[in-house]
Amino acid sequence: MADVLIVGDGPAGLSAALFLAKNDMSVTVFGQNTTPMHKAMLYNYLGIPEMTGTDFQNTSREQVKKLGAEILDEEITGAEKTESGFVITGAAGSRYEGKYLILASGTNTKLAEGLGLEKKNKGIVADEDGKTAVYGLYAVGWNTRLIRTQAIISAGQGASTALEILSVEAGEDVHDFDFVD
Ligand SMILES: Cc1cc2nc3c(=O)[nH]c(=O)nc-3n(C[C@H](O)[C@H](O)[C@H](O)COP(=O)(O)OP(=O)(O)OC[C@H]3O[C@@H](n4cnc5c(N)ncnc54)[C@H](O)[C@@H]3O)c2cc1C
Repeated sequence: MADVLIVGDGPAGLSAALFLAKNDMSVTVFGQNTTPMHKAMLYNYLGIPEMTGTDFQNTSREQVKKLGAEILDEEITGAEKTESGFVITGAAGSRYEGKYLILASGTNTKLAEGLGLEKKNKGIVADEDGKTAVYGLYAVGWNTRLIRTQAIISAGQGASTALEILSVEAGEDVHDFDFVD
């Protein structure tokens, strides 16, 4: 069983994966590298003066893999809550178990709705840390704000959810600060 399953490989899912993998949690990200980021030309991501969305995605995918996260090229078609966490099912029938599930699925809200989450005009209902009404289930990124989406906002939401999960696991607030030697 993975610690965390993440459905969605855009900025939200990869950012969550980065923080979790960096802090030694086992993380599997599902996605087929088809995020709309591949259509974007970034001039508005703080710290990156200019970069194509494709270069951003390639760099991010390599960064999270280097930290130990696994990225599987698979569409997830089913998800259910179990006693110990969640089971998700791939289009080819593979099943994956995880203690926590993060839905970072862009404009695709099907899994969230299938798990009983409420959807309002703005998107799937979750708090500022991505926490939903279902314990252990988080929603981040574009699916929680179907209007005014930006890569940097999704990445920030992914980071916030990861810190929330790390804090739940540690039983105290985790900040993930690093220092200059
Ligand atoms: C033409 C265009 C230009 C843009 N330009 C900019 C820009 O200049 N600057 C900027 O900041 N933003 C820009 N954006 C917006 C940016 O693309 C989004 O803000 C960003 O992609 C949101 O990230 P996300 O991770 O929340 O969702 P997404 O990037 O949509 O990631 C979700 C991923 O999950 C995958 N997925 C969904 N369901 C499943 C499933 N069941 N199983 C497996 N995988 C699944 C999807 O295929 C997708 O890859 C632009 C968007 C478009 C369309």
